[in-house]
Amino acid sequence: MRRSSSSGRPSATGGRAPRPRDQQPEQLGFAGMPERLFVCTPSKIGAYEDCPRRYRYSYLDRPAPPKGPPWAHNSLGASVHTALKNWYALPVDRRRPEVLASLLKGTWVREGYRDDEQERAAYRRALGWLEAYVETLDPGADPMGVERVVAVKTSVLAFNGRADRIDSRPGPSGPELAIVDYKTGRTGLDADDARGSRALALYAYAAERVFRRPCRRVELHHLPSGTVAAHDHTAESLARHLSRTEDTARDIMAAEKAVAEGGDADEAFPTTPGARCGWCDYRRTCPAGAQAPGKDPWAAVDRPAEG
Ligand code: SF4
Repeated sequence: MRRSSSSGRPSATGGRAPRPRDQQPEQLGFAGMPERLFVCTPSKIGAYEDCPRRYRYSYLDRPAPPKGPPWAHNSLGASVHTALKNWYALPVDRRRPEVLASLLKGTWVREGYRDDEQERAAYRRALGWLEAYVETLDPGADPMGVERVVAVKTSVLAFNGRADRIDSRPGPSGPELAIVDYKTGRTGLDADDARGSRALALYAYAAERVFRRPCRRVELHHLPSGTVAAHDHTAESLARHLSRTEDTARDIMAAEKAVAEGGDADEAFPTTPGARCGWCDYRRTCPAGAQAPGKDPWAAVDRPAEG
């Protein structure tokens, strides 16, 4: 859920990246013309809900403000995710624990660590997580999708996102889908995290429509602790997540419109300072973030995982 395409990707028809939304010409408001859909990913919605100013820095301001240095925890997460993706790309008879070291080496991202010693320790830790995790997998089972993009449109949104894994599992009335999201952070997760995850709910909503199969189960697989936090959604709970996402999309579009009409961009996209500022890529640009003590890029990999 980290890696999702943004509204700036090449269009299916023209191949040219669209201009940022704030540079696009205002659409003429002919009666009956459909409203422009808000193109979004879970990261985009999450960025605005966490902090509207961070959203602006990430998705609107062009040229974009400089980001801080890369984070070691992002490197670690990306390395593990890609190793698991490549695990499933192997023929079934080659999916054995012995291949994990070369898979992880091949995908290892080196950025952000304090020094070689810390990086080596992180590699060993990640390899241990992967070895323990694949023990729990059926090597012969091929998921419905691995790093699979699912997309859906509503009257407000054009949503797309990349799910880590989509499993097909037996249900009472036939095969059902489950969304699996890998986590490599330090702290464990519980069922409330799975229930409350907007991204997982949106993947489930989209997957159900893309594959035309029920998809209510969402799971967070926390590799450091070997735990799975799961939740079974209902049609109503998925609809609630979707409706909240649409509300956020409307707020974003209203803020963008206010700026396009000459409003103050700082007012339209306020800062929401808090503990997260220390981890924000735009801390050095943001007036509120500059007050917050920054974290070292390797801070989140500095101590072992908690259960
Ligand atoms: S530093 Fe804090 S207030 Fe500023 S953009 Fe980042 S999260 Fe928002």
